[in-house]
Amino acid sequence: MRSLRSRLTFTHALVAFVGVIIVAVLVIAVLRVAFNQLTERRMQSEADAAADVVSVIYQRRQGWPGVAQALQRRLAQSGPNDLVRRRRMLVYDAQGTLIFDNGSTVLQRRQPQPRDGTASQIVVDNQTVGTVLIGGQLGDLTQAETDFLRMVRWSVVVGSALAVLIALIVGRVITSRVTRPLRSLQVAAQRLASGARHEPLAIPPDRELAELAVSFNTMATELDRQQQLRRQQVADIAHELRTPLSVLRLQLESIEDGIDQPTPATLRSLAEETSLLTRLVDDLRLLSLADAGQLSLAIEPLEPVAMGERVVGNVTPRARQQQIDLKLEALPGVAPVLADPQRLLQILGNLLENGLRYTPAGGTVTLRIGTVPADAHARGAAPNGIAGWVSFEVADTGAGIPASELPQIFERFYRADKARTRETGGSGLGLAIVQRLVEIQGGRIWVSSAVGHGTTFHIAMPPAVPATRA
Ligand code: ADP
Repeated sequence: MRSLRSRLTFTHALVAFVGVIIVAVLVIAVLRVAFNQLTERRMQSEADAAADVVSVIYQRRQGWPGVAQALQRRLAQSGPNDLVRRRRMLVYDAQGTLIFDNGSTVLQRRQPQPRDGTASQIVVDNQTVGTVLIGGQLGDLTQAETDFLRMVRWSVVVGSALAVLIALIVGRVITSRVTRPLRSLQVAAQRLASGARHEPLAIPPDRELAELAVSFNTMATELDRQQQLRRQQVADIAHELRTPLSVLRLQLESIEDGIDQPTPATLRSLAEETSLLTRLVDDLRLLSLADAGQLSLAIEPLEPVAMGERVVGNVTPRARQQQIDLKLEALPGVAPVLADPQRLLQILGNLLENGLRYTPAGGTVTLRIGTVPADAHARGAAPNGIAGWVSFEVADTGAGIPASELPQIFERFYRADKARTRETGGSGLGLAIVQRLVEIQGGRIWVSSAVGHGTTFHIAMPPAVPATRA
């Protein structure tokens, strides 16, 4: 009885059984009352009829003498269905003396009591001269009535049995309908747990089960995707680590074999590879901490323009070196922004460095600071719900990113231009880190780009004072 199936089937049958029993008890009780009323009325009319018979004899005899003999004669001549023979009949005079008894048992000489049977007064010339008592009990039924009652009882018993049987069958069918999809769900969950790929579950017709199956399919597909992503990431990490490590090993081996000399130049190259490795490991650690929600943040109200000036100051030497015009444009009246200063500097620095990396000499990289306009979402220029937030835009006049690549650029290890790899300084983790850092501070990030014209990264961060108008 532990399985849902047996429990549901049993409950189904039990409910049907209880229902049938209640109906049966009610039917039998109502029938009993009806039959009692029927026999009561019948006995009364029989008693009245007997009183009429006795009163006729009484009148004919002018009193009680000879009445008993007359009744005795009538009894002798009567058929089996005659009233005088069918029932116990007692006749008393007005003083309560027993005049006639058609049965063998002679009642005590006493006034007839109602429980002895049904009484009817013998009235002659408006005077009560005696009483007729018809013996019998409530519920005394004729053969036909007894047969009818027996049939009703049988019908109730057979009907109950049939109802329970049908309830069992229907219960079994219905619970199978419910438990079959649950069973396949269980099998699918076990398969998932054992690491097998998810095969989409068939969607059952019942709404709740269909919703369950759809949710399970979605969850399993997402798990599959996550697992694949994890595998891919481990492969990517291994790949990223292998290159600097093998460069290091080769250089060290050639120094060991005397092919190369440990000159300052070779040592610098070794140090560069080591710092690349360190940066990669640091980036991965940062991402995994952010994923686990363990990155500590010191969120505080910050002056956006002051932050912009600091970060632009940090990358100016590099811009100058690359002959790129680096500009800071700040709109007046920008509200303080809620962010962690170090992380905000890291985000903007990363985007500016990307801008410099992907913009040729003579180009421009601009950091624009302002407020997300109220109509930005309606114009398709910003996501919904961030009007009034502080906006940072890093725009460059570089080659731009093809529309087909845009959705992937925030993915880990993704590089739009496969040819430009570590040599151009990027591991493909920069934008993934920027995105995570923005998100864990409650901000939003998106990108727009036009090939041949340049790329703009947009960031919106919540203002320290909530915007009063949207
Ligand atoms: P990377 O370390 O390779 O720069 P990112 O995560 O920072 O990795 O960027 C992912 C990819 O997005 C880059 O490889 C590059 O193709 C593209 N990308 C990022 N910023 C720009 C930009 N300002 N202009 C053009 N392409 C860009």
